[in-house]
Amino acid sequence: MRAAAFVGRRRIEIQDVPDPEIAAPDDVLVRVIRSGICGSDKRLYLSDGAKPGVHGHEAAGVVVEVGDAVTRVGEGDGVVVYDVIGCGKCAFCLQGQFTYCPQRKGGVSGGFGELLVAPERNLMRMPPRMPFDRACLMSDCFGTPAKAVRRVGAAAPDTVAVFGCGPIGLNAIMAAKAYGAGVIAVDPVQYRREAASELGANHAIDPENEDAVGRIRELTGTGANKAMECSANPAAGRQCIECLRPEGRAVFVGECGKLEISPSADLIRRDITIMGSWYMHLSDFPANVHLCDTTGADPLRVVTHTVPLEQIEAGFAAFCDMQEGCLKAIVQMAEP
Ligand SMILES: [Zn+2]
Ligand SMILES: [Zn+2]
Repeated sequence: MRAAAFVGRRRIEIQDVPDPEIAAPDDVLVRVIRSGICGSDKRLYLSDGAKPGVHGHEAAGVVVEVGDAVTRVGEGDGVVVYDVIGCGKCAFCLQGQFTYCPQRKGGVSGGFGELLVAPERNLMRMPPRMPFDRACLMSDCFGTPAKAVRRVGAAAPDTVAVFGCGPIGLNAIMAAKAYGAGVIAVDPVQYRREAASELGANHAIDPENEDAVGRIRELTGTGANKAMECSANPAAGRQCIECLRPEGRAVFVGECGKLEISPSADLIRRDITIMGSWYMHLSDFPANVHLCDTTGADPLRVVTHTVPLEQIEAGFAAFCDMQEGCLKAIVQMAEP
């Protein structure tokens, strides 16, 4: 099959590699139709040296072959691939919380190859009439922020401050709006702030030219009820805590390295809660599909670039360098 090979800094080649094969009875072979380029893929493109293997963890495709023990999906079914592999047997896995599995392995990966193999339990059946362009966004790109919005409890009548308006932040804005919250978006890049406003943010703040915390306090009177850190920037992480009103809650989604926290001033004396939220759980999928079906939330609204596999390098360049107004890029691996 053909697959994208990350051969060096800013260099991606399309290579012929061996087809992946079904190895276990619960394995499923999937023909990849669409694959998202994620912020966490940036290091593949921007770091030196070759990165062996087939990457890409935001895939949707069609089942082409199933192992002997597979019962839930069959040839021709459209599926969204859930990336994190759990043991499938522990108390967490039985609840679809593979991210908590003590035996958690890496990811399914393989989204930037024409075929991938995933355990049956990692496949979420696509609802009827969902386009593959949207399906590939339903795992990480929409699923991660939508879960974080529910975890922090951002809903009417809250005002939630969202720091970072990349794909994750913009989808967080849509999900928070869908649950009835008011949104204040914070991002230094003008076209991203414009996108935030188009997707429903009530205000958009430029933290490089405005005092973000001061503006949020001014707009809300008392501070934001909820805040979401989606920028992976430690300075934004601090503002995320400081912009809260007493009893406010902040959720960290962007993986931002170290952050200094003073328990007394930051948390105790204002009754502040801070929490993290990683990748979605399998059990979030139906709730997220429902949210898209019944509100204006739609991760496709964030997609600005769609490229064929042959042009994946240009897709990465536009995304990583923020060229051409790029918000989210997806790769057309095949036609359904
Ligand atoms: Zn991702
Ligand atoms: Zn497990």
